[in-house]
Amino acid sequence: PIRVRFAPSPTGMFHVGGARSALFNWALARQQDEGRFVLRIEDTDAARNKPEWTEGILQALAWLGIGDADPHFEGPYFQSDYAGKHRETAERLYQEGRAYYCDCTREQVQARRDNPNLGYDGFCRDRALEPGPGRALRFRVPEGGPTVVDDAIRGRVEFDHASIEDFVVARADGSPLFVLANVVDDVEMGINRVIRGEEHLSNTPKQQLLWQALGHTAPAWAHLPVIVNEKRQKLSKRRDKVALETYRDEGFLPEAMVNYLMLLGWSPGEDREIMPWSEMEPLFAVSDVNSASAFFDEKKLRAFNGEYIRALEVEDFVDRCRPWLDPEAAPWPQENYDEDAFRAIAPLAQSRVAVLGEITANVDFLFLDEPVEDAKSWSKAMKPETAAPMLAAARERLADPALPWEPEALRAELEAAGTELGLKLGKAQAPVRVAVTGRTVGLPLFESLQALGRERTLVRIDAALE
Ligand code: GLU
Repeated sequence: PIRVRFAPSPTGMFHVGGARSALFNWALARQQDEGRFVLRIEDTDAARNKPEWTEGILQALAWLGIGDADPHFEGPYFQSDYAGKHRETAERLYQEGRAYYCDCTREQVQARRDNPNLGYDGFCRDRALEPGPGRALRFRVPEGGPTVVDDAIRGRVEFDHASIEDFVVARADGSPLFVLANVVDDVEMGINRVIRGEEHLSNTPKQQLLWQALGHTAPAWAHLPVIVNEKRQKLSKRRDKVALETYRDEGFLPEAMVNYLMLLGWSPGEDREIMPWSEMEPLFAVSDVNSASAFFDEKKLRAFNGEYIRALEVEDFVDRCRPWLDPEAAPWPQENYDEDAFRAIAPLAQSRVAVLGEITANVDFLFLDEPVEDAKSWSKAMKPETAAPMLAAARERLADPALPWEPEALRAELEAAGTELGLKLGKAQAPVRVAVTGRTVGLPLFESLQALGRERTLVRIDAALE
């Protein structure tokens, strides 16, 4: 049975690239009854790790639907718990002559080589140094022959041994390096397929040599294409919006996010794009992943999200909006919030928002004492020559107590007022919309007026006329 793993380092926010790796691995594990997805937190870099990043990883995975309630999930394991095994293995490599101690400083190595890119020159290979202070343990890369990495996405990638330096597996203080700890854990955890980001491909020949030196067959490898921004630059946390948490907090639905992430390098075929996880999971195959870099297109993700939002039951939509309506988050005074008013207008908002976080700006006119004042909207819609007469005319018509306060009638009145002033409906509506909601864009105006009620509508038009 397949045993895959996801092995994030808790050194920062959870990256969308990590999320994609996790999902690909998750799909593979779930395709087999006995398939397992092992979560291993690689927390050995004590200087950069923080418990909150670990917590963030667990939460992000749960949000994506990857969690310990599922029998395919195993862990989390923590790499730091296996430190003894890592040291033991380093010692074993030394005892078996697969690794040797080296006391060269970086400066010494550089001074011996004219080309700094060549790496370590093997100076200590045959010096038979004993372990001791200032001595790092280096793996003895076998002479002759290339190491061939058989990658499910890239095909056969050859690494000439002459180009692989005798790499350090344990520092002078005895602490093992990532390249070793990662392999030792994969061996211990019985991992038979490794699917991870392309940035690790340069480690792979070294790791394959380690697997062999430890007497095991290396796992089947697959290195996922890099994810790039619209300028074709590799996504970076300094420049790009890469944290999964950010998307969650803006109101992307996990279903939409999962769907979109699965398409970064893979496709279910037949030009299908919007497809729920339950249908993608059985179709996913590593061999169908494309080796070309994958463009993270936030516009497309937003479009996906809008579609997923519109497909929700209204009740579900209302529930998912909760975090933004919550007194802690909402911009209006808590006592102004009216659940019935929100529910009444929710379907209109549902058909318009691309992310849930946009709900606030769509309904805040209902719950704020006074509408927001959006300067751009005012300068655009409140042209003195047209806005003042239009608002005055609208006020007069809307104040008529005989006027039924419902969208059709409201529309007819504003249309008529506009016609008298020589304004098309769009131009006639704009100042009323801005007076009442504060913005030029929002939910359909007549439904908004209906929801707000006659009295508050008139107060706001008066305020705008002042
Ligand atoms: N801890 C490594 C990382 O986060 C994992 C590498 C691997 O998947 O082997 O990049």
